[in-house]
Amino acid sequence: MVDDRGMLAASEQREKNLIQCGVGAGVPDGMNKSVCKSGEGGMEMDDNLLWVYEQRCKMAVASLQKNGFDAVYCKRREDACRNIIDEARKARTIGFGGSMTVRELQLEPELEQLGVELLQHNKPGLSSEEKLSIRRRQLTCDLFLTGSNAVTLNGQLVNVDGVGNRVGAMMFGPKQVIVVMGRNKIVEDVHAAIKRIKAVAAPANARRLNLKLPCAVTGQCSECQSPERICRATVILDKKPSQANIRVLIINDDLGY
Ligand code: SF4
Repeated sequence: MVDDRGMLAASEQREKNLIQCGVGAGVPDGMNKSVCKSGEGGMEMDDNLLWVYEQRCKMAVASLQKNGFDAVYCKRREDACRNIIDEARKARTIGFGGSMTVRELQLEPELEQLGVELLQHNKPGLSSEEKLSIRRRQLTCDLFLTGSNAVTLNGQLVNVDGVGNRVGAMMFGPKQVIVVMGRNKIVEDVHAAIKRIKAVAAPANARRLNLKLPCAVTGQCSECQSPERICRATVILDKKPSQANIRVLIINDDLGY
């Protein structure tokens, strides 16, 4: 039988391994079982571990600020939602990059109530021409909401895109961009970011989108030559592009891929 300390040590080792291989600071499922306790609102993380992640989030926020981004630490998802809704009140059109993180925040009903036009190319039933047209309009929308595949502790945003509309709109065009990400996207450096994207984000997205890709079957990148390959443009924002207004919200929670 394994006692609590043994389980905690095993979880910590697993987490260390995940961070070393670039998966980030997220809490794997197994860890919840050992160090998270049940609270009224569901599972709560151990306070000490939460504190460690808070420091890591704040380190990324400080680095992003040095690099010219308007970066904000959000203790909870609700803080990020409030920030986004406040910005959305000034907008008439809001573009969505297709981020799972944004989707998990479940902002849509509240945004719809504001009477703004939502530009979502992933809505079911759209033809490819309609999707393309929406993607083009996202490039000049008032507010563009997106996630990022990774952020380094040095404050660089790292993304790999297939179509390019997400990274395009992130860099230039919309009046305001908000990049929202969970602590699980924080990595040591660009090398770890790419590794994370190929090991986690791309296979998970390939599977979500039901694409005929090897990583959607094996869960591993084989640097495929597939026509459906989603890893086509690797974009690193070392500093905020000079004409862009980019706010980055880092939430001390696990969100997206
Ligand atoms: S290069 Fe191909 S196999 Fe590798 S993660 Fe991207 S889409 Fe998947």
